Amino acid sequence: MNILIVTWHPEPASFNGAMFRTACETLQSHGHEVRISNLREMRFDPVSGRHNFSTVKDPLYFKQQVEEMHATENNGFAGDVEAELEKLEWCELMIWQFPLWWFGLPAVLKGWVDRVFVMGRVYGGGKIYETGVFRGKKALISLTTGGPAESYRKDGFNGDIMAILRPIHRGMLQFVGFDVLTPHIVYGPVRMTDDERREELARYSRRLAGITAEAVIDVGRYKAY
Ligand code: FAD
Repeated sequence: MNILIVTWHPEPASFNGAMFRTACETLQSHGHEVRISNLREMRFDPVSGRHNFSTVKDPLYFKQQVEEMHATENNGFAGDVEAELEKLEWCELMIWQFPLWWFGLPAVLKGWVDRVFVMGRVYGGGKIYETGVFRGKKALISLTTGGPAESYRKDGFNGDIMAILRPIHRGMLQFVGFDVLTPHIVYGPVRMTDDERREELARYSRRLAGITAEAVIDVGRYKAY
């Protein structure tokens, strides 16, 4: 399977870094072709603007989606955006590895979505959700938290983790046609012993070894939140 892993963490020796390396090694050892977007290493610019494009539709008023449509028709994406678009189009499974920051994606990963999920080539013209451009592809979000698991239950002080992740699952991934797998969550790695963290890495590796056989999430089950 063609697998793209997109990750961002400010520290390569972090637990997220270890999860990212575990995923690369496990998936490659199971015969998958793996491409990566390590946004920290790439110094990926997360801020959108005219530099997303080599073409210009309206020089007087910058409207990103209008420029995206124009660039789609005229092969007009800047090199860094074009390279990410090609990886996105190539993959059959996409994995995002990140620490949960303020109940969401860290800004650089969010900025990657802002710049790469472009109107025209990635969504639009009636192509969203079940008719999305990327229907047939799967996505897995793999994340760590600071808070413990019980704080992310429905009656916990943070609330239901699936509701917190819904903007990512529904608003980003499913919006452009991906089916989503059950998120992989390591709660509070900083509170664990080294042995417990190593076991978490082994648990992730075991899961990834069988990832191609996994069923996608029925989003209807948490649509109401
Ligand atoms: P690290 O602190 O890097 O790692 C934990 C430990 O694992 C370290 O001791 C490290 O040395 C060790 N380790 C690394 N590699 C290995 C290995 N191979 N084997 C064994 N041990 C290893 N938390 C929330 O719950 N909700 C929030 O909304 C939230 N918002 C945040 C916003 C900001 C701006 C910040 C900075 C943090 C926020 N947090 C939040 C906390 C954050 O989610 C956690 O700190 C983060 O997820 C922990 O993962 P890490 O990779 O950074 O862990």
